[in-house]
Amino acid sequence: MTEFNHRVHNFCAGPAALPESVLLRAQSELLNFRNSGSSIMEMSHRGSIFMAIAAEAEARLRLLLSIPDNYKVLFLQGGAHLQFAMIPMNLMLKDQPMAFADTGYWSRRAIKEAALLGNVITVTSSKNNADTAIPEFNTWNIPDQASFLHYTPNETIHGIEFDWIPDAGDIPLVADLSSSILSQPLDVSKFGLIYAGAQKNIGPAGLTLVIIRDDLVARAPKNIPGYLNYATQVEQGSMYNTPATFAWYLANMVFEWLLNLGGLSAIAKINQQKAELLYKCIDDSDLYSNPVRRQNRSRMNVPFILKDPNLDKVFLMESEKNGLLNLKGHRAVGGMRASLYNAVGIDSVKALTDFMREFEKKHG
Ligand code: PMP
Repeated sequence: MTEFNHRVHNFCAGPAALPESVLLRAQSELLNFRNSGSSIMEMSHRGSIFMAIAAEAEARLRLLLSIPDNYKVLFLQGGAHLQFAMIPMNLMLKDQPMAFADTGYWSRRAIKEAALLGNVITVTSSKNNADTAIPEFNTWNIPDQASFLHYTPNETIHGIEFDWIPDAGDIPLVADLSSSILSQPLDVSKFGLIYAGAQKNIGPAGLTLVIIRDDLVARAPKNIPGYLNYATQVEQGSMYNTPATFAWYLANMVFEWLLNLGGLSAIAKINQQKAELLYKCIDDSDLYSNPVRRQNRSRMNVPFILKDPNLDKVFLMESEKNGLLNLKGHRAVGGMRASLYNAVGIDSVKALTDFMREFEKKHG
């Protein structure tokens, strides 16, 4: 492994790059948090200092996403995976199937977990196009009665992203926004429940965000364990047990960083520019390719393959030497992948595309 005495360009899919200013601030506050005499990690989550941070984080998130008043915000643990179980446990209605759109690896994982708990109907599948496009909504087969409709707006591994929001009428829409939350403005009112693991666009691993509409909080049956019950978590302000305090504190600073940048429309513009730069580099080349239908290309995760797979190892070695890290594609699909989350600067994408063009000249 190459050693560095400076920070690199980090294209990791998650846990992902964090804004440097946030890390520096955390570093400066690590031993003695704002003259309290101890680290934020060493304080009670119920003390006034931490409670103020928790409230600030929620207020900032509400501002960023314009979350309507009839939605609750939870800061939980267990990652997106725990939500794969909590959602069926809380939202499943008697004799009403759970409807899922299958658009890749993570929707399949959500389907697999839900199927352990109840009746699942898959309303569409991108398997038919080898996960290179989102099937049109008018081909989806949604039952009249369903407990909810679940989909994955951005598939982190295949690099496909919805540029529209499904409308299933009265059926509550549930979205796994793990890899695209806070990357652009979002109309929260279209959703029944949104969830996201923090480790991409929110903060460090260990924190999971859930945004849930009031009428769905009350749907939870009484006989599920307290931690897993949204109603309990709402009543207890996400403090039914000891929360991930340090991660919550860092997320608060990431929200502040986003607000200072100008909010989600500002970051969306930057994200668009970053993605365009990289896709253009891929499309202009004879060596690299991306199979995803243009309108479904993810702005956050850009997979690409090299014409000659024998070059993969050399590409990874040379890119790493140039300070461009974590470009190996997910083991499920191979090739390369660059994740361009909010904290990845446009300078990093320029460094990557410069490298890719040089590499093609040498090896193409
Ligand atoms: N859903 C999506 C879209 C993801 O990208 C990931 C993680 N890469 C997960 C779910 C799983 O997240 P976790 O590890 O937090 O359970």
